[in-house]
Amino acid sequence: MNNEIELWEQVKSMLKASNDEITFNQTFAPITKIYKVQNNVIYLIVNTSLDSFRIKKFYLNKMNELLTQCAGTQMSFALITAQEVENQNKIQTQNSFVQPIQTTVIKKRNLRAEYTFSNFITGEANREAFTFSVKVAESPHVTINPFYIFGDVGLGKTHLMTAIGHYILENTPDTNVVYTTAQQFVEDFFKAKNKNQKNTALADEFDNYYRSADLLLVDDIQYLADRQGSQDEFFKLFEYLFENNKQIIVTSDRPASELNIMSRLKSRFSWGMQTDIKKPNQLLREAILRGKLKFLISDTDEVPANVITYIAENFDQNVRDLEGALRRFISYCVSFNIDFNYDNAVLALDAIISNSKNSNNSGTKLHIEKIKEIISNYFSINVKELSGPSRKQEYVYARQLTVYILKTKYNQTLTSIGSALGGRDHATISHAFDKIQDAINNDPNIKEDVDNLISTLDKQYKM
Ligand code: ADP
Ligand code: MG
Repeated sequence: MNNEIELWEQVKSMLKASNDEITFNQTFAPITKIYKVQNNVIYLIVNTSLDSFRIKKFYLNKMNELLTQCAGTQMSFALITAQEVENQNKIQTQNSFVQPIQTTVIKKRNLRAEYTFSNFITGEANREAFTFSVKVAESPHVTINPFYIFGDVGLGKTHLMTAIGHYILENTPDTNVVYTTAQQFVEDFFKAKNKNQKNTALADEFDNYYRSADLLLVDDIQYLADRQGSQDEFFKLFEYLFENNKQIIVTSDRPASELNIMSRLKSRFSWGMQTDIKKPNQLLREAILRGKLKFLISDTDEVPANVITYIAENFDQNVRDLEGALRRFISYCVSFNIDFNYDNAVLALDAIISNSKNSNNSGTKLHIEKIKEIISNYFSINVKELSGPSRKQEYVYARQLTVYILKTKYNQTLTSIGSALGGRDHATISHAFDKIQDAINNDPNIKEDVDNLISTLDKQYKM
């Protein structure tokens, strides 16, 4: 609770600066106690219900804004009067006669069943993290302790950490695996070691729970930033477990050196091994999609390769979104009872793709020059000729195929294709496109060229 008192004090001093003295002294200064903290809501104790009413009406929104700003995470205040607190306490003591064992504050968190090593697809971006994870799982607390996995959101940190837990449990089922998020740890700590309540049973429960771990998994440790009390507590726990040869694994969105936490804790994290997971490339994204597909439909061959390529090309920032896109595509086709084909993938996903492109310009960026280079190589011509003026038959043909592929495979507009091909106008590009479109249906050689080119690009063009 210490920390929340600190937060309230911070908000209070900001309120002091932005309100006149009388308002501040009457309204905010008298609030000095916190009743409880639950689900990121801090319950402030006010004197009367009129205070509560006025604050809610005039100041609460602003207070919540300031709080979220100070805490660095979404939090809010609720108000409870001193009288209400008293009533609550009475009810609790009465209940405690009926139900005396209401002491548990900590709920055990389970490991997600599907986050196993066998469901984790490896590639360049995560191979190192995977290899070390397997090492830790095979010989916990012997070689790598603590083990620190970092990387951007949605890249598989929680999955890998959980997989270590499953693996160890399979081999030594009596291992006590304790998984928690840092946020949950903070909440447990406040509930159990709240200075105001002096409830030693809860404090003991907290210690017993965390200290009995043989394997401690703490997810998203960056959440401890600026939470001094919780950091102290975590440090003590760390020391205790480490000295007792227990394995500790943490994940984070950044390297330990960049964490906003006390340096002695940071230095502990560098004792063991740090590894990061990077963004997956096209190849890995496609492999992950194929891996996920088997959980969604029984005959995975029903989804053609160009659909997988299309989804992987367009969701390149994190695996969670990639997976989400695949799910959306599958459920779209299933609900409309339509085939799992490319056109339907575009129908299902186009809107969210252009949405995310509009909101995030750093999204998928197409390197048209690179694509042109691959196509020229395929035809053994000089890349300049693709955009050049020459009407030589082989150049014209290569150019037309480039148009077709940029449009169908990479969703480029005719205008942007025109400018990528030496500033040709819309009509010329449109004509080229129609020509190939027709030809594909009538001339198997052209169809073969298109297919070959697409698979060459799939292999050689990585975003
Ligand atoms: P993080 O903890 O890094 O934010 P998660 O571990 O929660 O990311 O992963 C997000 C989703 O992506 C999960 O559903 C996870 O199973 C999946 N995922 C991430 N990387 C892989 C991978 N290499 N193979 C299979 N699934 C993955
Ligand atoms: Mg995670």
